[in-house]
Amino acid sequence: MTRPFNFSAGPAVLPESVLKQVQAEMLDWHQGMSVMEMSHRSKAFVAMTEQCEALLRELLNIPDDYAVLFMQGGATAQFSMVPMNLLRGNTKADYINTGIWSKKAIQEAERYCDVKVVTDASKNQYNHIPERDSWTLRDDAAYLHYTPNETVNGIEFSDVPKVNVPLVADMSSNILSRPINVSDYALIYAGAQKNMGPSGITLVIVRKDLVDAPLDSTPSTMAYKNFSDCGSLYNTPPTFAWYVCKLVFEWVKAQGGVAAMEQMAEKRSRLLYDTIDNSDFYSSPVHPNSRSRINVPFSLKDSALDKTFLAEAEKQGLHQLEGHRSVGGMRASLYNAMPLEGVQALCDFMRDFERRNG
Ligand code: PMP
Repeated sequence: MTRPFNFSAGPAVLPESVLKQVQAEMLDWHQGMSVMEMSHRSKAFVAMTEQCEALLRELLNIPDDYAVLFMQGGATAQFSMVPMNLLRGNTKADYINTGIWSKKAIQEAERYCDVKVVTDASKNQYNHIPERDSWTLRDDAAYLHYTPNETVNGIEFSDVPKVNVPLVADMSSNILSRPINVSDYALIYAGAQKNMGPSGITLVIVRKDLVDAPLDSTPSTMAYKNFSDCGSLYNTPPTFAWYVCKLVFEWVKAQGGVAAMEQMAEKRSRLLYDTIDNSDFYSSPVHPNSRSRINVPFSLKDSALDKTFLAEAEKQGLHQLEGHRSVGGMRASLYNAMPLEGVQALCDFMRDFERRNG
């Protein structure tokens, strides 16, 4: 069986070798039982969680003064957990708006505190990140929240904002796609279903000294402290999703770690942007200096051809290229598990489609 190339924004493509290992271990992960059938308090499962954390610490070089948590509720639950846990008596939080996901984080935070949008790319139709010297940061904010990669709008920061307050990053769509310096951040969070594993589990990396004073009203399953105190085994976790994440971390390590992931991300995205830029038929809505290496939105000259493009792409084994429902057009998501051949096949198809319809 040949599998198609899957450009979904998430849940997204997983490494084939990981899926095969899952398949091989489905009936007998340990003592004749599937991982899904075992207690999360069993020795085997707890050992797996410890290996998973150790692998991630190694991949991202996470310092000891940071806790690594695996939680539920997706990145969307983090939109609430961040203010609930990090305000710590402060009433102000700053947010950068570079796309749909930033905006959702802002709307949720407004339920808890005085939110200031320090720069707002919606004013330029989210086509670039506004210049750093135009941002109106507050030195007394509890934290600054930003989205290093906007999955829908296809905007990515190439460097880390240098600011005087704790920095919070929603890395849902670009975690593990380049080396990072964890100490630049107070907190990093990411849903698993793009670069780490199946949906249902969310990674949080948080400086330990920030978790001890959640708002009194914080539900117990949303207080970071409760999870950091017990290796994230506060209640029954999504055991299967956690196990797959561990296999993906092993795969990333075997590929050469996040530095290798970065090289691949650059190769993939360069191929696709070159194809777009060398044609009059396709266009990218994002300025070159803000373009995402991971999620590449593009449009056809004539949107009446969109449906034909998608149908023909699918026949060629190129799946899930439809743009987000809020922006239309196309979007190719190029996560770590997308082979380079997948992008080559997409570019070949795009050139051929242009020849026939341009
Ligand atoms: N933030 C970003 C950057 C995302 O891409 C997504 C999902 N596409 C979310 C947040 C929301 O994630 P979830 O559906 O896991 O809550």
